[in-house]
Amino acid sequence: MKNIAILCSGGDVSGMNPALKHFVEYSIQKELNPFFIYDGYEGLIDNKIKKVSYCDVSGIITRGGTKIGSSRSKRFMQKKHRQTAKDNLDALDINMLIVLGGDGSFRGLDIFYREHGVRFCGVPSTIDNDIFATEYCLGVDTALNIIKTSIDALRDTASSFKRAFVVETMGRDCGYLALVSHLTSGSELCLIPELDYDLSLHEEEFKKQIKNGRRYFIAIVSEGIKQDSQEIANWFERKIGIEARVSVLGHIQRGGNPSIYDRLMAYKFITHAIDRLLEKKTNSIVCYTKKGFVYKSIDEVVSGKKALDKNLLGYLKNQ
Ligand code: ADP
Repeated sequence: MKNIAILCSGGDVSGMNPALKHFVEYSIQKELNPFFIYDGYEGLIDNKIKKVSYCDVSGIITRGGTKIGSSRSKRFMQKKHRQTAKDNLDALDINMLIVLGGDGSFRGLDIFYREHGVRFCGVPSTIDNDIFATEYCLGVDTALNIIKTSIDALRDTASSFKRAFVVETMGRDCGYLALVSHLTSGSELCLIPELDYDLSLHEEEFKKQIKNGRRYFIAIVSEGIKQDSQEIANWFERKIGIEARVSVLGHIQRGGNPSIYDRLMAYKFITHAIDRLLEKKTNSIVCYTKKGFVYKSIDEVVSGKKALDKNLLGYLKNQ
């Protein structure tokens, strides 16, 4: 029997635990020995590697985060520590790796592959949905659902107190979470890094709406915009004349019970990753595209900057 290992690297997402569960089950089905590497590349260097079985993944499908931990590792950037990592894998006769992470993690593993020949397959996992080559990253749907629940709750209090709420979502330079949340939460304003804005263009309309009985506003802003969220709240107070509060959703967006969609995508991503390694393919990333699941190299994955879906952006531009 051959040995295969999995690790999580970079930011955790909800959907990693369902992926771990299917990794164990599908590996055993394919007559592979599954191993967990705890705490990402740090654990790979520190030899936190354990052979696992069904009982290690029982009951985890409902939980966010990752049972095996994750990390960012400065040491993995150094050749000598990658050598230690290779020695640890050799001692357990592991030569196939799956990594759940972002493009930085894949880049690191690609370097590791080129040095030591350990075959790997990456599964894009980030709530930001900002990986160029894939339409979907594990964790995005759960994050959107968490944001939806938060905004629904804020709406209750906003309407009771006649307030504007500026809700800040994650996403680094990518406004995907903010844009989709705006379109699906019926918010009044959405600001994302991909689209220039001029707040003064909204002043007349918003003031008119208050005169006509509007009691509250919800503005969804992505963390990557040119202004601080507090500045947007100040604008509501000074220019629109309504009390305003900022709500930074922050790490809440990463947690929560994995959605059905993320559980299903975890299942599919892992199946494709293991199948790929069993075909003896070396260093690839499973990407979900309009054509379905495909495999891409790390160079393809990082060869461009992810653009927001034109149709989605069009809805915002037309508002
Ligand atoms: P993400 O995977 O979410 O893009 P990072 O960019 O923080 O996250 O990368 C995660 C980890 O991947 C880093 O902490 C490091 O251990 C590893 N890594 C990233 N780039 C490299 C590299 N050029 N060489 C070696 N390891 C790297």
